[in-house]
Amino acid sequence: MFKLNAAGTSMISGILIPLLIAGCSSGEKLYRDARPLMGTIVEVSICHTEEPQALIVLQKAFEEMARIENMMSQYREGSEISKINAQAFGHPVKVSDELFDLLQESVKYNEITHGAFDISVGPLMKLWPFYKKEIILPSPQKITAALRSVGTDKIRLDAKEKTVEFSQPNMALDLGGIAKGYAVDRAIQIIKAAGVKCALVNAGGDLYAVGKKPDGKNWRMGVQHPRELDRLVCAFDIENEAIATSGDYERFFIKDGRRYCHILDPTTGMPATGSVSVTIRANNATQADALATGVFVLGPEKGLDLVESLPGVEGAVIFQGGDGKLQVSISSGFKKRFIVHKKDL
Ligand code: ADP
Ligand code: MG
Repeated sequence: MFKLNAAGTSMISGILIPLLIAGCSSGEKLYRDARPLMGTIVEVSICHTEEPQALIVLQKAFEEMARIENMMSQYREGSEISKINAQAFGHPVKVSDELFDLLQESVKYNEITHGAFDISVGPLMKLWPFYKKEIILPSPQKITAALRSVGTDKIRLDAKEKTVEFSQPNMALDLGGIAKGYAVDRAIQIIKAAGVKCALVNAGGDLYAVGKKPDGKNWRMGVQHPRELDRLVCAFDIENEAIATSGDYERFFIKDGRRYCHILDPTTGMPATGSVSVTIRANNATQADALATGVFVLGPEKGLDLVESLPGVEGAVIFQGGDGKLQVSISSGFKKRFIVHKKDL
């Protein structure tokens, strides 16, 4: 999650508030709105010469992201994902081409991350009390039982019929690690199709920046300190690229002095512990989001090996060293941008 929004001002939530900043000679101004969506505050900023058109583009971008949330949320009754989760064991369930494509892409990220990114973690997510007041840890027996219903190999995708089928009972898909990035990409597509040359869509730290701001400056973002949430570990310029962060401070609970975060290791069924926060740079937000989650599970060594092997992808992993202190590992192409001073960690 990034604290600074790219306009360098504090977050505005709720109703439409166009924010006008000094325009450039082209007469463009910056319009901004922020709304609660997908369990976070989504912020959209666009540059435009005409206010009425700008507001229409903003509205369309938010509507697109709301549409995606309605399709992909496992918490919404009637969403395509809920339908799959309720009906797909032993029965092929027909889905939209759009969802089918994202499911296929999710399976691809499972392979790329050697199993670390896995949208079939649903049964495990239900066991861990991230959304409950009372903290009761699941028993090893329950985890072992849930793991029988986890694994991308247990999802049958039929590309011809566009159907999804589960080979095990009690399976559940959870697109929480990729849907926000996908929604950002779709919103950016709509904004670009409207002829906008400068924009930022930020879904709680999964973001894409188009062009430069009307004053000629770059969009700039800050990476939140994972333990002192009112401060940044670093900040850098972004342009025509996606950034996503996964952190153990986003959703977690502490029991007996131990932190349990909402990103699970699909091989053990336990919350991943190898990373504290992962920031990924990629050419699209879907990829950045999925890889941030996958690299988080893999940890600094395997995670950065993976990042180095992927063209157009860069990343940084903040983790706890043996002495308990935070350390950071940064991919070779990211070192000049993700500059962290030891005192800031
Ligand atoms: P955030 O939602 O905070 O931006 P992530 O993008 O890392 O963070 O997504 C975390 C969410 O992804 C979890 O809340 C859960 O819904 C889902 N998830 C948990 N573990 C995994 C995993 N190993 N692979 C894919 N998705 C996961
Ligand atoms: Mg993610």
